[in-house]
Amino acid sequence: MNETPETPPSAPESTTSAHGAKGGMSDSKTSLYAKHVKIYPQWVRGMFRNIKWTVLGALLSLYYLIPWLRWDRGAGTPDQAVLVDMTGRRLYFFWIEIWPQEIYYLTGILIIGAIGLFMVTALAGRVWCGFTCPQTVWTDLFLFVEHLIEGDRNKRKKLDAGPLTLNKAVRKILKHSVWVLISALTGGAWIMYYVDAPTVTMDILTGQASTTVYGFFALFTGTTYLLAGWAREQLCVYMCPWPRFQGAMFDVDSLVVTYEGWRGEPRGKPKSKAPEGVDSKGDCIDCELCRHVCPTGIDIRDGLQLGCIGCGLCIDVCNQVMDRIGSPRQLIRYDSISNQASRETGKEVGFKFLRPRILIYAAILAVVIGIMAFTMGTRKTTEINIQRDRSPLFVTLSDGSVRNGYTFKILNMVREDRSFVLGTQGVEGAIINIVGKGAGNWKAAIDVTVKPDNVGTFRVYVRAPAFGLDGRSQELNFELLDTVSGKTTLHESIFYGPGNK
Ligand code: SF4
Ligand code: SF4
Repeated sequence: MNETPETPPSAPESTTSAHGAKGGMSDSKTSLYAKHVKIYPQWVRGMFRNIKWTVLGALLSLYYLIPWLRWDRGAGTPDQAVLVDMTGRRLYFFWIEIWPQEIYYLTGILIIGAIGLFMVTALAGRVWCGFTCPQTVWTDLFLFVEHLIEGDRNKRKKLDAGPLTLNKAVRKILKHSVWVLISALTGGAWIMYYVDAPTVTMDILTGQASTTVYGFFALFTGTTYLLAGWAREQLCVYMCPWPRFQGAMFDVDSLVVTYEGWRGEPRGKPKSKAPEGVDSKGDCIDCELCRHVCPTGIDIRDGLQLGCIGCGLCIDVCNQVMDRIGSPRQLIRYDSISNQASRETGKEVGFKFLRPRILIYAAILAVVIGIMAFTMGTRKTTEINIQRDRSPLFVTLSDGSVRNGYTFKILNMVREDRSFVLGTQGVEGAIINIVGKGAGNWKAAIDVTVKPDNVGTFRVYVRAPAFGLDGRSQELNFELLDTVSGKTTLHESIFYGPGNK
């Protein structure tokens, strides 16, 4: 405990909580709105900062580069590997092509994402918020730019508090220009997930893009600039619903960022500065660096809070302080509540991985992933839709036979012509007639061809002698033979008649 920390402790920005109003609710003059107190996070180096850089680099690279990946799907189809093709009504993901009627795959992916997030939160707290959430990633990037141009915490505070000088104006203009540039790249990249990347980039740069493209480009650029540059921690604290219900996922064995109050308190000057023979102070020297580096401006020594996004930066800085004063590291650490209780009483600690809620989340994940994998593996290449005529239900023809009408739709989900043979089953003596194709029973097969990536719509009449009918209605199956694969599928419908007299 021979050195003071690198940055001297400074007074709190305000005696009012950064996110709360002074006074209680009983005071009728108390405003329900607290004035925003700007947070000036201090730069810090350390393990968690390095993890954050690595994750940030990987996620931003993926985000900006993925739209430029190409994937050959043959002539007449987009060659962008990942594309939400709004005009063609398809979602392309490398070799997977999702049709609008297969939107349930998206539901499955959302369920996997949500349960995965619940499980990670139950295991390791808010690591999503602290490391991978887009708001965190872009805010980190914007803070880095601010740090480079305006300097660290104290310099930024001084610059903001000082009068407008040439130096201040240049730095502010430069910072906001870089922020707008990053925002424009971010907004532009988002559009590329919906329109061919090289084409839309050229269109935007040459002024030939549509008003819609420019409108969305401006919208995404503006929201990035506002959320990452101005809203920052306020989005996490006030707008995001996730911190509000994440408490339901935590238990005493979840890893959260904790301050070892039993070791740190009573906080105060370093022990080396205490009077001779007196060792009444805890390990916390009350330098406040943990609060200064915090991107949400909270003091982790006040306990687990909604504002803590679990980024671990306070751990990095406190470890440096502990190294300097010669005390053991990890006064602030990622730990579970149960471990903290054990540490305090000198009992053995350990991480309890297999807990009921983790097993339940894992089981749900396994089931949903299993269903998704099975449905993807056995994915149909044809969708059939049969609409029966409701008015009239049936027609009695001059020869006494009964006729029912159907509209038969065949969706061909592959990129080549498909040829099918259509017939019927279940109604004795039935004759099928496809308008424009001819009539016949199953043996006298009728060919229908459906163009690639298209829906073939056919008007179908089924005629049957009245004597063969059991009652007012009976089951009728349409048999559809795929002439290339040789597979036959059955599609249920109903055949109506006058009923037994
Ligand atoms: S917990 Fe660590 S960083 Fe925070 S005030 Fe105490 S010594 Fe400083
Ligand atoms: S308290 Fe620590 S872990 Fe929580 S947000 Fe602040 S710096 Fe990050």
